[in-house]
Amino acid sequence: MSQRPGFPVKLSSSGAIGSPRKTAIGVGATQTSTPPPSLNASQQLAKEASGVLPRTSSAVSGLGLDSVAVRARMVRKLAEQGVQDARVLDAMGQVERHRFVESALVNQAYEDTSLPIGLGQTISKPNVVARMVELLCQDAPGKLGRILEIGTGCGYQAAVLSHVATEVYSIERLRGLHEKARTNLRPFRLHNVHLIFGDGMLGYPKGAPYAGIISAAGGDAVPDAWLEQLAVGGRLIAPTITPAGHQALVVILKTAQGYERQVLEAVHFVPLKSGVA
Ligand code: SAH
Repeated sequence: MSQRPGFPVKLSSSGAIGSPRKTAIGVGATQTSTPPPSLNASQQLAKEASGVLPRTSSAVSGLGLDSVAVRARMVRKLAEQGVQDARVLDAMGQVERHRFVESALVNQAYEDTSLPIGLGQTISKPNVVARMVELLCQDAPGKLGRILEIGTGCGYQAAVLSHVATEVYSIERLRGLHEKARTNLRPFRLHNVHLIFGDGMLGYPKGAPYAGIISAAGGDAVPDAWLEQLAVGGRLIAPTITPAGHQALVVILKTAQGYERQVLEAVHFVPLKSGVA
């Protein structure tokens, strides 16, 4: 990703980045001048997001602390919490979550918390994203084929999915978020992510059949269109209201004989709504 013009000038005057002194300090050489103020990882991310530091590479030279390190810590935590699939951990380590949230929330981007993304919607906790993507990948060797995501939101999960699947079709019913996701994803140049503005309750027949369908919004039932558009052998992961009246993760496997349904843990997703707005 290219640096924004103008920033290097600002940066060198602040002395916060790229100073040759940093190298000397790093190798323990005698220090003759005051070291540049070190930023902790959250400060670093906040500065990147607010434009004080360039939102450039994930390894910001000279600082020693960068978003790669913060993500690595998040990935270790995900592994401790039980996420095992190396494909998923790798994808979670690659996608820069802090680029998908508002500047004011950047400090929390790698914490295990859901965050508002505008228009009353939220980006799920990293742990929930990883869990759902892991369920989607379960029993599939290597890369998944075509995936349908319902609820693009800010585009974060679509970016994660782009690392584990050959093609990602992601549909969003709120135009404002569809456009925000487009803006957020543009710099990543993920050519296998296709953003669609529309009602995801109808699925997206053009990409069907799907190796996997994943919903980021919870409905009373799984729409028939999703079941129809799932390939035989494909898996569908969706928060759904159970007969007991609460929302839980539901996994549906489509087989040649029919559908196998599993109800897993309770979750709290924003509602699946019909139509566009
Ligand atoms: N995966 C997203 C999470 C977004 S929250 C992310 O990484 O940010 C869930 C999203 O589902 C919301 O943006 C909401 O507008 C959307 N949604 C709800 N019902 C929908 C429908 N019928 N079709 C498409 N999107 C829907």
